[in-house]
Amino acid sequence: MHFKASAGGALGDAVLQANLARFGASGFALARARAVEAYGAAEFERLRTAGAEIRDRALATLDAYIERFEREAAARGATVLFAETGAEACELVLEVCRRHGLKKAIKSKSMLSEEAGLNEALAAAGVEPVETDLGEYIIQLAGEPPSHIIAPAVHKSKDAVADLFAAHHRSPRKTDIGEMTREARAVLRGHFVSADLGISGGNFLIAETGSGVIVTNEGNGRMVTTLPRVHVCITGIEKVIPTLEDFATLLRLLPRSATGQAISNYVSLFTGPRRAGDRDGPEHMYFILVDAGRTNLVGGDMQAMLRCIRCGACMNHCPVYRTVGGHAYGWVYPGPMGAILTPSYVGLENALELPQAATLCNQCGVVCPVRIPLPDLLRQLREQEVERRLRPRGEMLALRAWSWVAQRPRLYALATRWVARVLRVVGGGSGRIRRLPGASGWTRERDLPAPRGATFRDLYRRTGARPAPNAQPGASAPR
Ligand code: SF4
Repeated sequence: MHFKASAGGALGDAVLQANLARFGASGFALARARAVEAYGAAEFERLRTAGAEIRDRALATLDAYIERFEREAAARGATVLFAETGAEACELVLEVCRRHGLKKAIKSKSMLSEEAGLNEALAAAGVEPVETDLGEYIIQLAGEPPSHIIAPAVHKSKDAVADLFAAHHRSPRKTDIGEMTREARAVLRGHFVSADLGISGGNFLIAETGSGVIVTNEGNGRMVTTLPRVHVCITGIEKVIPTLEDFATLLRLLPRSATGQAISNYVSLFTGPRRAGDRDGPEHMYFILVDAGRTNLVGGDMQAMLRCIRCGACMNHCPVYRTVGGHAYGWVYPGPMGAILTPSYVGLENALELPQAATLCNQCGVVCPVRIPLPDLLRQLREQEVERRLRPRGEMLALRAWSWVAQRPRLYALATRWVARVLRVVGGGSGRIRRLPGASGWTRERDLPAPRGATFRDLYRRTGARPAPNAQPGASAPR
């Protein structure tokens, strides 16, 4: 996963930059701020604490809650299957297809199925997968992965979607969003009624009732979970929470953090297959609970990451995500959560640049509804990279040299004065450095302002400034 190269490409892509600017202005972050204000900022902070406690309580005895979930779901007629890897999860779905003779799957959003590459596995086995969430449908037509966990096609412009629809629907090109949506709905209706398998994700699994939950703004979730004769819910093992009461608390957090809504358009709980007397619902219902690296996080430094309820708030507020978009992160999960989850799931050595893909400004930590200390986790991953000697040799040597100089104050003062002088000369009359040999990353996409005036140490000595008498060392240091 080559974040730097992909991010460089994203920065140079004018269309993507325009789409990202629109996304920034589209206001998920603003909507969240308004929703928090309406709820009461102090009360919302208490809610965040409660959310974090619920997730921690569930994770502390995850095995017990998973067993309870399995018992309760089975008692209500569902089958619970377990997969250790994404590939195993795909194989289990294919087994279900073979057992029931299924040929066409309609899907509502499931990040786990993206992780596992389920669509590719289904297609290779002759089962047609059709994404029915509008954003997922668009990127399936485009043959692209999602770029945001709740707005998967946010990187696409209206015109790009109009081109896709015209090409795939074989209909006159439309550019009115209402008309385009109606056209997609008409096409998807045909898929809804002809599919024999519904595949959904699950925002939560409730142990005390054996239910799955999806929280969504599109009605496709209910179609997928009720119309076809078989329903498979595929999700991660960490999604299990103890009770319906816990779900009610997390439901107050999720839509407000994601889109700024007090509640999403649809909140659907599914508990077992259709019972005698039910007018709709699947004849068979399966839950596939996938590990795929999650148990490795339990009890370790990254355990807090398993609290994640996939709201997307961290990416909506992240200056890096908002500048480079989701595809630069190279896998299913973008933004700050992806910069932690991806190395945790695929191995730090396979995603070396992701923990560096953050400014550590803590915007993500401030808005995370379950108080995941994202910047702390990113910092820990960076430490692990250094401890395991995974950073490039040149960088390690440069940091070692810097550390050596920084521990010798006189030499440090001399060196900074000298470097500032050289940079001033390089900046010339414009005061801007356009190319910096040996550190081209600083100037590839923008100019670096040349230093002006005296160094901080010189100013400090000249003005005779001293720390305030009761100042705590490091108390005001930015982190
Ligand atoms: S890490 Fe927090 S803010 Fe980001 S998606 Fe997960 S729950 Fe939401």
